[in-house]
Amino acid sequence: MRNTQALLLETDFPTIFRSTLNTLQMNLGYLCNLSCQHCHVNAGPKRTELMDKDTMKTALAVIEKYQLEILDVTGGSPEMNPHFKWLVKQARALGVKVIDRCNPTILLELGYEDLVDFLATEQVEITASLPCYLEDNVDAQRGKGVFKTSINALKKLNEAGYGKTGSDLVLNLVFNPQGPTLPPEQTSLEAAYREFLQQNFGLEFNHLFTITNMPIQRFGAVLLAKGQFENYMNVLKHAFKPENLNQVMCKTLLSVDWQGFVYDCDFNQMLDLPMAGRQRHLSDLLHHDFSGQRIETGDHCYGCTAGQGSSCTGVLQK
Ligand code: SF4
Ligand code: SF4
Repeated sequence: MRNTQALLLETDFPTIFRSTLNTLQMNLGYLCNLSCQHCHVNAGPKRTELMDKDTMKTALAVIEKYQLEILDVTGGSPEMNPHFKWLVKQARALGVKVIDRCNPTILLELGYEDLVDFLATEQVEITASLPCYLEDNVDAQRGKGVFKTSINALKKLNEAGYGKTGSDLVLNLVFNPQGPTLPPEQTSLEAAYREFLQQNFGLEFNHLFTITNMPIQRFGAVLLAKGQFENYMNVLKHAFKPENLNQVMCKTLLSVDWQGFVYDCDFNQMLDLPMAGRQRHLSDLLHHDFSGQRIETGDHCYGCTAGQGSSCTGVLQK
């Protein structure tokens, strides 16, 4: 697979600095039951990298030290990490909001039958990927049958109270474009998702997050293979909006890889761009506060600042 890294690091992206940390985003490993075409972490069923419990303990110490408000777990399928439930329970006991970036099909896999009840009991917020409301598009991007399984899993979440009116259990959905284009306007797409999913499947959810595809890893390789990389970068750069710079997620979030090394964001993690210019571990954060530090940037950062802006919680211009 060809790599876009060298094409992204020489950049004219403006200099930005970290603000006060409030979110730890932890990648619990690259193991996943799917292998989607747009996956920016190259996750899949054969990956063996998984975060261990000691690293999780250090993360919890960092959460306490900085009094962080949010633990955002991702992967792969984070639920496939054998210590997932332990970590969630510990974080919830500290009063931290936990967000599970969930590929909904995992909820119906053998061996995960009790997962929905566990998530509901711990009041974990679910951000579930559903890259389109049309079956053909989802199956083309994620694999045959993934749409139907995802819908069934979302129904199971609704039955447990997730996404239902009047319930505290939050279910957000994530859209990302099929190809090298910017996402459509989030509010109107959310309305279209809501109408279609309600009418066709009786499904409810709280919010839809539209996320711009990053020109890295598997999606970056597809762009290169199809000769679309340069065009896509031009799309991102021409849509640059300076007002998005103040709201990019790396200002308040720190991304942790499965071994405990830290990065300004998940995308930098995948590009092997460590925070503050050299490899640092979660344990370094126990002794040194990196607030105000310059953020490591590259041309991929235009993906966060194009148009409505993009982050793990959808557009920046809400
Ligand atoms: S995009 Fe998500 S569900 Fe698909 S392979 Fe990557 S981690 Fe797994
Ligand atoms: S890719 Fe986005 S979140 Fe990551 S460093 Fe660049 S602007 Fe920040």
